[in-house]
Amino acid sequence: MSSRLTALTTFCVVAFAVLATLTAAVYASDAVNERQQRQQVDVFSNRALLRAELVTSEADSALRQLMSYPDTPCTNDHMQRLQQVEEQFRYIREVASTHDMQLRCSSLRGAVDIALPPPEWAYAGGFTAWHTEVGKRGNERQMLNVRLGNHVVVIDPRFYLDIVPLDDTIKLTVLETQDGGVISSWPHTDDALVRAALKRTGSSPYFEGRYYVVERSSRYPIAVVAYEPEDRMRRDVPAQLRTLLPPALVLSAIGTWLVLRWRRKLRTPRNAMLQGIRRRQFVAWLQPLVSLESGRCVGAEALVRWKLEDGTIVAPDTFIPMAESLDLIEPITDQVIRSVFEGVGATLARRRDLHVSLNLAGKDLAGTRVLETLKASLAKYAVRPEQIWFEAIERTLMDTASSAPVLEAFRAAGHRIFIDDFGTGYSSLSYLQALPVDGIKIDRSFLRSLASGEEMNKIVPHIIEMARSLDLLMVAEGVETEAQAQYLRGRGVQFAQGWLYAKAMPADEFLRYLEREAARTRET
Ligand code: C2E
Ligand code: MG
Ligand code: MG
Repeated sequence: MSSRLTALTTFCVVAFAVLATLTAAVYASDAVNERQQRQQVDVFSNRALLRAELVTSEADSALRQLMSYPDTPCTNDHMQRLQQVEEQFRYIREVASTHDMQLRCSSLRGAVDIALPPPEWAYAGGFTAWHTEVGKRGNERQMLNVRLGNHVVVIDPRFYLDIVPLDDTIKLTVLETQDGGVISSWPHTDDALVRAALKRTGSSPYFEGRYYVVERSSRYPIAVVAYEPEDRMRRDVPAQLRTLLPPALVLSAIGTWLVLRWRRKLRTPRNAMLQGIRRRQFVAWLQPLVSLESGRCVGAEALVRWKLEDGTIVAPDTFIPMAESLDLIEPITDQVIRSVFEGVGATLARRRDLHVSLNLAGKDLAGTRVLETLKASLAKYAVRPEQIWFEAIERTLMDTASSAPVLEAFRAAGHRIFIDDFGTGYSSLSYLQALPVDGIKIDRSFLRSLASGEEMNKIVPHIIEMARSLDLLMVAEGVETEAQAQYLRGRGVQFAQGWLYAKAMPADEFLRYLEREAARTRET
């Protein structure tokens, strides 16, 4: 995928994620707000009803007390009585006495003579009620008058809804239930809506475009209707999203940049290799090693392969130099060892005639760490140290003063050491003498020139002679033809490895290779 397409795809994915999250968050918070607001409506209507009942009960008690006044109305004594009642009840603003349809005296105004307006409502038990207007022009207020017998109490209707309006978007009204007359309501309440709610016969609360609560009093002919403003929050969601769009796109751009940077960082060879190590993607394949004399398999060389996630097999020439330069070769060596024992450990324990040869890198030869790692596996699988050989290329052994003691330690532990790719490097006799090794592996480049009877490269006889004089074992690498094998056998080379016998293969395949060979041997 081109980098521009990757960036675009990443941006789309990030933007989608950001917008989806924001939309979900907006809707979720909207739903929470909605729920909270409905709870408020429930709480307010409940409190309002309690307050309305309290005010009504005062009017009721005051009027019933005054009913029992036995003497002549509007005397000093009666006036005193009216004032006492007015003071006694918190919500009553004025108490008056009537005769026929005339107001005769009042606790506030003394003796008066005012015609009573026709009542707006009449209730069972003889109660009537109506509104009057008080206050100066432009500042008029409605007062509620309730009459029983010859007395009237005047109440400020605001007392009916005298609760703290913590949420002034909620609409609240107290009504009388007989014909839906509004006693008191909060500002901007729609009387038509409230009356319709009161007339409705279904259960409360209910939802009809908005949330309504109708609370009817069981004691008095009053009710409270409360409702929330029409779907205010929900209508706002698209608008909120539109506002959030520009910052969301900026956020997505930043997110894309971070993701791409992070991906680039992840794609470094070091990270790829570390990930491979973590996921144990380094496995040992095995290439059989054959005795030239008997023609039988005597062991195998462990050759590392990097098995990528998608199944691709990467050859060691590509990544071993990189692992060495990144200082990651040691964990890879450990994985090769683990992989060898997991694959063929049990077979090695059964077949003492077989060995596995492990390749060591320069770093592995800096100390005896590999020996420590190996010890546990040898014990676990009951494999003998002499069944594990090691190969080191000449280059890593150049500093003979420091490598000799390490090689000595490997040999002291019971392992054999071979110089790998012999002939491609320093390869002098004095150098061979100075190193405690058991044998050499003749590099495959020397065998290439031998094609169908042609004389072998001039160097090969020389190398063989050198090794024989030092009593070293020899493994010829890259043997591809019978002619090569014959030549090497004739010169006293003990072991051979190459495509003539088999290529490197996974451990389970190597086990089948051994089984086939054992079956052939039994037949002959
Ligand atoms: P090497 O140790 O000299 O390994 C022998 C290489 O020759 C292997 O290549 C093997 O597949 C190849 N080969 C064997 N027979 C033939 C043949 O008949 N013809 C041809 N053309 N090639 C043949 P491979 O597996 O690609 O390994 C390459 C090198 O990678 C190895 O050379 C070794 O230096 C390194 N290596 C492999 N495994 C490890 C390991 O576990 N650790 C370390 N440090 N290096 C390793
Ligand atoms: Mg090797
Ligand atoms: Mg080699």
